[in-house]
Amino acid sequence: MTSSNQENTLKRKLDDRDDSEDEYGNNDNVKSKSEGSSSNALRLCPYLDTINRQFLDFDFEKLCSVSLSRINVYACLVCGKYFQGRGTNTHAYTHSVADGHHVFLNLHTLKFYCLPDNYEIVDSSLDDIKYVLNPTFNKDQITQLDISDRQSRAIDGSMYLPGIVGMNNIKANDYCNVILQALSHVTPLRDYFLRESNYAHIKRPPGDSSYLLVQRFGELMRKLWNPRNFKAHVSPHEMLQAVVLWSKKRFQFTEQGDPIDFLSWFLNALHLALNGSKKKNSSIIYKTFLGHMKIYTRKIPPLELEESQRSELLNTVEYGETVTESPFLYLTCDLPPPPLFKDQIRENIIPQVSLYTLLNKFNAITEKEYKTYKENFMKRFEITELPPYLILYIKRFTKNTFFVEKNPTIVNFPVRNVDFGDILTAEVKATHPYTTYDLVANIVHDGEPGQGTYRVHILHRATGQWYELQDLHVTQILPQMIALSEAYIQIYELRKSGNPENGVSN
Ligand SMILES: [Zn+2]
Repeated sequence: MTSSNQENTLKRKLDDRDDSEDEYGNNDNVKSKSEGSSSNALRLCPYLDTINRQFLDFDFEKLCSVSLSRINVYACLVCGKYFQGRGTNTHAYTHSVADGHHVFLNLHTLKFYCLPDNYEIVDSSLDDIKYVLNPTFNKDQITQLDISDRQSRAIDGSMYLPGIVGMNNIKANDYCNVILQALSHVTPLRDYFLRESNYAHIKRPPGDSSYLLVQRFGELMRKLWNPRNFKAHVSPHEMLQAVVLWSKKRFQFTEQGDPIDFLSWFLNALHLALNGSKKKNSSIIYKTFLGHMKIYTRKIPPLELEESQRSELLNTVEYGETVTESPFLYLTCDLPPPPLFKDQIRENIIPQVSLYTLLNKFNAITEKEYKTYKENFMKRFEITELPPYLILYIKRFTKNTFFVEKNPTIVNFPVRNVDFGDILTAEVKATHPYTTYDLVANIVHDGEPGQGTYRVHILHRATGQWYELQDLHVTQILPQMIALSEAYIQIYELRKSGNPENGVSN
């Protein structure tokens, strides 16, 4: 445990705060705690067998169930509820007397207490509870995550694979869940957030609470990958509260949103909270997802002009091509317009398109027309640098003045060996020794535009199996089924070695 020093310092700070901030001014027990903790620590607690692990859930906001205060909160390990304080007349104290529940855990200091006697319990048989509240990973354990196919057993006996667990939908947050699930399978990002020591030192300006987002995301990652969880699912409640707060309610869990908006906002917010700059490798977000492209733009002469006037204009500087360099965190792929059918029966024919056709948008040759209310432009895109993880956004929804339309076209893609080298210019290709990618996550939209639901397909590396996750539901899925869905956002991973023709992974 190399990061324990830092963590201890942090906990000690919170500890100090706890003692000084009892809302009831009830500090009469502080003294006995600090003086007597070492001698009382060895006292045996007769109530340990009253603990009900199946009632313990540490995913929810750490606030007192009576006072709703966040200060000095304890979990009752008998019924699972949270109560404030532990001195005489505090809510935890009263609960222990009134309900006869005696074993409590301070949710900040991770220390156990017996109430109302108020002595600290030190017993290694409680370590599993501490671990569920605050899972930690060392480097070896992280390496094992993608190698071990060992299933874990939850308290209720159900089996789960760490990393492949359901996530609660509190009301309408499936659009966030699919993104959080997908990101938890982007290896460098996951590994970074599994170890708090990677980012615990990052300082934000006073009054800036964006760090909460980083902290909560880290906690969520560790809970999703926890091999010793008490239940086979995780609630993103605390993570989403940080999102609501930091996005100033742009993203809520009570209202369906668009996962691409959330993803784009979230990656940028994390990047900034980690003190990322415009530089390429200035945060784990940029290191993982940032690519570069050149955008060539030229104006088109107005169509109503005579042909001779138009060709004359094309030779002027104003109508010449300009180039801008542009970084990207994801690529927007446009679907061809769906064919319009006249009769109901023929609507059963679902239009299809190959992923490679969509990617031609970025081959530096294909020109796409863009209209503003005044002028028309032609743009072409040249990818100059491919990132280690490539996010594709398949634009299915078009917003008109009155409604949102959904394009149901199915995109045909292989889940392995997608070669992006084909769209690179020879010059750029020479700078990219590897251009083959494998799919690691695939987000799908079902239902009507503006409503509907989202689910995500995730690759479990250790077993090579694909899973479909929709809120709390986790099912195994055949890879060939993935391409039959209405893919919306995909994450591809660059294969850094191996021969793509042989399909050798890693
Ligand atoms: Zn209780």
